[in-house]
Formats: sequence, C-alpha cells, structure tokens
Amino acid sequence: MLNDSLTTIKGVGPELENKFSLLGVNSIFDLINYFPKRYEDYSVVSKISEIKFGKVTIKGHVRDAKGRYVRRGLHITEAVLTDESGSIKIVWFNQPYRANAIKSSAEYFVSGNFELSNNRLTIMNPSMELASDFPANTARILPVYKLTKGITSNTIRKIVREIVPIIRKIDESMPEWILRESNLISRSQALELIHFPEKSVDIQRAQERLGFDEVFELSLASLLNKNENNQEHSLKIEFKQELAIEFVKNLPFELTQAQRKVVWQIYKDIDLSKPMNRMVEGDVGSGKTVVATMAALMVISEGYQVAFMAPTEILARQHAQTIYELLKPLGMSEKLGLIVGSMTSKEKQYVKDELSLGNIKFIVGTHALIEENVKMEKLALVVIDEQQRFGVEQRKKLMSKATEMPHFLSLTATPIPRSLALTFFGELDVSILDEKPNIRKPIITEIVSPNTKLEMYKNINSELDKGHQMFVICPLITDSAVMDANSVEKIYKQLSEKDFKNRNIAMLHGKMKGDEKNKIMQDFIDKKTDILVSTTVIEVGVDVPNSTVMLIEAADRFGLAQLHQLRGRIGRGSDQGYCYLMLSDSSAPSPRLRALVSSNDGFKLAELDLSLRGPGAIYGVSQHGELDLRMAKLDNLTLIKNARKRAEEFINKNNDLKQYEYLYNRVKKLRIISNLN
Ligand code: ADP
Ligand code: MG
Repeated sequence: MLNDSLTTIKGVGPELENKFSLLGVNSIFDLINYFPKRYEDYSVVSKISEIKFGKVTIKGHVRDAKGRYVRRGLHITEAVLTDESGSIKIVWFNQPYRANAIKSSAEYFVSGNFELSNNRLTIMNPSMELASDFPANTARILPVYKLTKGITSNTIRKIVREIVPIIRKIDESMPEWILRESNLISRSQALELIHFPEKSVDIQRAQERLGFDEVFELSLASLLNKNENNQEHSLKIEFKQELAIEFVKNLPFELTQAQRKVVWQIYKDIDLSKPMNRMVEGDVGSGKTVVATMAALMVISEGYQVAFMAPTEILARQHAQTIYELLKPLGMSEKLGLIVGSMTSKEKQYVKDELSLGNIKFIVGTHALIEENVKMEKLALVVIDEQQRFGVEQRKKLMSKATEMPHFLSLTATPIPRSLALTFFGELDVSILDEKPNIRKPIITEIVSPNTKLEMYKNINSELDKGHQMFVICPLITDSAVMDANSVEKIYKQLSEKDFKNRNIAMLHGKMKGDEKNKIMQDFIDKKTDILVSTTVIEVGVDVPNSTVMLIEAADRFGLAQLHQLRGRIGRGSDQGYCYLMLSDSSAPSPRLRALVSSNDGFKLAELDLSLRGPGAIYGVSQHGELDLRMAKLDNLTLIKNARKRAEEFINKNNDLKQYEYLYNRVKKLRIISNLN
C-alpha cells in the first residue's frame, strides 16, 4: 500500500503524478514523508464584527459574486461574505471560474489575510471551501509545502487528506519502552499530525517524534558500525619517542599546542590492535598535513605502509612535495611515492611495482590509488584528506587493499559543530585543531558590487605591484544559457584584454587535461603568472603563500562553507590577505556574505551555514538525502542526546532490530551510507 503509486489516490492522474515526481514524491510513502516546511494558523473562526487585520477565518454565506475583466489579462471577482454579525467584501484576482462555482445557499469557510487594499477592507484571494468538520484548506492550521510549478499547497493538502486512513494504519517502528520513557507519540499519530495539526502543540509533538526517529536511526546505525569496527584487528604501531622528537626538531616551525595534542591522541590510537577511526577537523591553514605525516612516520618506521589520498591532482602533488621535505631530514624521503591519473602508464606501473614489493612505504595519490591493481599488502594506515570530497565506496576500496583492517585517519577543513559530529559521525572519534599557527593575519574581506569595481582594482594593482599574486574564482567554465554568471573564459578575456592588460594571466579549470593543469599551477607557484582565473578546482588545500588577493566572481552563487574554503587559499604567508566578494548584480548582499566579512572563524561560519541551509547541503552528504535531518533541529541538543542514549540502551538491552521492520530497513541503509568501513 505504501509503495503504491500516487495515481491510486482519488484525484491524482498521470499528469499530477509527473509533477509530484519533480518533488521527489513517487509513492504514497513519499507523500506521507513529504513534510510541510511551515504552517499558517487559520484555525480560529471569527465573527466578522470582531475581526482585526491579519490572518482570519470566517464562516458564512457568499453572495453577489460578480466577475469582470478590468483590462486585458486582469480579471476581478468580487463577492460579499456575510455572517450573523456583519458582512465584508472579498476579492479574487484572475480566478474567472469563481463566480459560477459559488452556491448562494451554502455555508463556506473563507480563510485569508484581512487587509486594507485600495482604501477598502477586504480579503484578497482567500481560500474558500464548503464548511465541514474536516476542512483541507481553511479553518485550520494550514501546512505550507515546498512546491513546484503546477502544484499548490491546496492540492497537496487535499491529496494528503485522502490518504489519512492509510497514515492511521502505519506500524509503530520503535519499541514501546522507548516511546514511554521518552514520552513520544506513535509514529502514525506523528505522521498524521505533521500534516493535520489541530493545535500548535500538535506540530511540536509530531516534530519531536519524527526528529527523534531521525537521530535515533542514525545513532543506532553508527553505534552498530562502531561495535563492528571495534571487533576488527589492526596492526599495533608502537610509539617511538626518539623518532617523534627527531622529526619535530627538524620542522621549520613550532607545532601548535593543538597539533601536539592531536598527534598524541593519534599515537595512542594506533598503538592498539583495534583500528583507529579518527577524524581531524581543522579550519583551513590549521596545519593538518604535518599531523598526518607524524602519524605516518611511526607506521613507516615499523616497515608498514601508508596511503594518503587527496581529492585533486594538484593537491596530491603538493602534499607529496610537502611530505618529501618533512621526511628528508630523517633520511626517509626515498620511501615516498606518488600516483596520479596524469602519469603515463609506464610511470604508474613502476610505482605499483614498488608498492607491491614494499619499497614504497608512503604513497600519496588521487583516486588513482584505488585502481584495482594497486597492491599494498602491508598497508596499516589510510589517510584521506578533505574526506568530505570522497564517497563511501572510494574509502572502502582503499581500505580493502590491506590484509588487516588499517587504521583510518580523515582530515577535514569543514568544521562540523559538535552536535552534528555526534550524530553523523558517531562511529568516528573526532579531534579538533582549534588553533591556527603563528601570527597569521586575518584576511580582510570586502563585498564589492559591479559598480564599485574600480576602487577594488586600485587595491589589487597595489598588491600586484608588490610582487604578490591573485586568484580570481568564477562559478562556471564557459558562459551558459542556463545560469547568468561570469565564466572563467569570459573573465579571463576581460581581464587580459582590458582590466589587467599588463599582467600575466592564466586560466585553470576542471575540463583541462591533467598535465596542462599541473603546468599552469606550477607556473603560478613559480610566480610566472600574476593572476590565475579559475573555477573552484583550487578550492581544496592548495598552498601558494605569495598569493595575497582573491576575487570571487558571483560570490552569491557559492555556499558559505565553500567561500570560506576558497578564502583559505590566501593569507597563508605572513602578508596581509584580501578577499573580494563580487556580487552578480547590485542587489543587497545576503546574510551569508555579510557573515563572511565579519568572521574568519570556520566554526562560527559553519554553525551559521547550518542554520541557513541545513546539514545535508553543507557536509557533502546531500548526495545521500537519507542522511539529511529534516525534522531534528540540530541545536536541540537535548533531543540529540536523548535519542543517542536510547540507541545505546537499545543495543545494551539486546533488543532485536529485526522485530521492527521499518527501523531495521532504515538502519541497514544508513549503516551502508554512513559507514566508513
Ligand atoms: P590545512 O590544515 O589547511 O591542510 P596545511 O597542512 O596545508 O593546512 O598547512 C598550512 C601551512 O601552514 C603550510 O604551509 C604548513 O607548512 C604551515 N604550518 C603547519 N603547521 C604550522 C605551525 N605549527 N606553525 C607554522 N606553520 C605551520
Ligand atoms: Mg590541507
């Protein structure tokens, strides 16, 4: 029944079915789980003599309905709404069918905004339906849904009302003791109330229950994963103090306190024969690479192998170079290898042979690392940089190259608020690098509109005159008919022919060949070019300390977290960095952009982004809509803690998951998509 198509519902034909599928609603189950995004309260029925401005519902007769065209394309229907206390005018625009549909003898509910319009008190475009005990579109708390062309909230309400009998029969998904102890309503009740609340407390109760479910399911999945992971056996990597001291002595800088703490934690983790499963969260520039290298150091000194995977070739090459320099003073740099897509097959084969012979102990690479025929029998540590860029499958593939379960370390620059980390990544231990090295100056960020460009160009020129370099970031490669935003090609042309004629300019984007990209990047690092016009391919990790200016075209097209990442590409040396956020037009800047101007703190920005866009959109889990929490408010720590505690109890009590069919299936799915093993 729940899997039935929408056309089995009264009033839904193939056409409407198609429109619903645009909303991702393909079955009755989907429709039931298509939750309103907000509500409008029209539940109080008032007397006409007593109404005030604002949302009102009146029960009365509608008479004298007359429709006419005021001019071409503008039709007006006027009518008089009367109850026992008085009467008012009501007006509809462009609903020519109205007048004929009204029965003068019938009693109606009319809901809408009572307001002053053209010097008259009226309700404009009210919803109206025959008065009944079970109205869909009037006289109640009206759910408002996310819509698409051809579907109104009215349509959705009417259709959902048809399936209330089905909703009422939905099985409970939770053990009774959880509902009792956490004071939750039943699942079917929650699903009915989310669409048909009678009182506002109903909405709250329904959201509580459905939000609890989301967090509970995720927690259960991650706890089960964690338990399973803890039963695996890993290679125990002994801590060698002298080696660590030697490494630190040779660094060109002092480790921050935060780096020391995290490295120490990792050393403790890998010194056990159960696999480490740790995520290091650190804002851009917090120095994650050296932390990972220190972890790797212990592993390779024991004769085991380390794989370090990065999302782009540019980044992998840069990491290889950095790590090479870090290992050189210890005489360990010859153990390092690199594998990336643009290498010739001969070069790749050489690296693969060296890997399988065990001569290469530390391999840095891109996705090329997960090719079938890369063998690493002694792989004991997997490091994934910018882990949010990889899918679960890719991680799994890399991990599976080891004979024993390798220790796992993921690095991410996307700061994840605690509440979320606990929920999404429950099976991971999280370390936070909450300190940035040395005396780095906060980047000066400004919002620029197309008509204040010249002032900005002056500032840019004075930076370039000092020998510094600039990134220009565009949302597109080529101009597109679909999206009106500046492209790399267009801006490249404009800058090199006009605005910065006398500078060396290059462009970079993802459609270019690997070698070409590397050359362009290398030229920029070698200061052969002053300005690099690029897509977001440079977003992740790239380190060019001489580059002090970033201009982001159509900044309003990017997400907050992404903008912060991009900005992290500059101000990496000791010089002042400048970031210009160019608006696509002269409309007012969004709260997102303003937040960026006022803060350089990735954590603060992440919290804000979370509240603006929801977790799915931010943490790269959006490809898995399943992981998106729609109901649970992530700032509701009480709910999250409670759901998590219940999930622990569920496991400790040895409750049999198979008994709860819906829960079982959800958890199974979540375990697969959230799992890191
Ligand atoms: P991210 O955390 O963004 O990956 P990186 O590891 O790329 O940061 O480090 C950014 C820069 O900071 C690099 O040039 C690195 O050498 C430098 N760095 C790392 N740790 C320190 C430190 N403790 N003091 C000074 N510079 C550091
Ligand atoms: Mg990095």
